[in-house]
Amino acid sequence: MIKFEFSKIKTKDFELQFSTELQCLEFLANEKWKHGYVCNKCENTNYCKGKTPFSRRCTKCKHDESATAHTMFHRCKIPINEAFKMAYEVCSLPDISISNLSEKLKIRHMTCWKLKKKIMECIKENQNATS
Ligand SMILES: [Zn+2]
Repeated sequence: MIKFEFSKIKTKDFELQFSTELQCLEFLANEKWKHGYVCNKCENTNYCKGKTPFSRRCTKCKHDESATAHTMFHRCKIPINEAFKMAYEVCSLPDISISNLSEKLKIRHMTCWKLKKKIMECIKENQNATS
């Protein structure tokens, strides 16, 4: 599981670091495979470039894993940089209401609700892992 220590990043730095989708995908890929690449399907450790930006494709079974697969941003309905922004808001202020989030980020209520739930689960998992 990827650890997000967004709450330690200043807003200005966050905006610089994660303003585009590519920046967010690169971050996810780096975090996900920081201990090296292993194919989920066949455990091969060799890969080549996949179909989507920063995805990796197994050289043996051709399984293509995107940077967002197995992260809380998997199958995310909104652009990944918007989702990152939300994760940042929620990490800095876990009690923020859905209405507040929705208004602040101009994202639909239902989308906010779903993603916030995932983000909170992720935060909890991280806390359990470190304590
Ligand atoms: Zn494989």
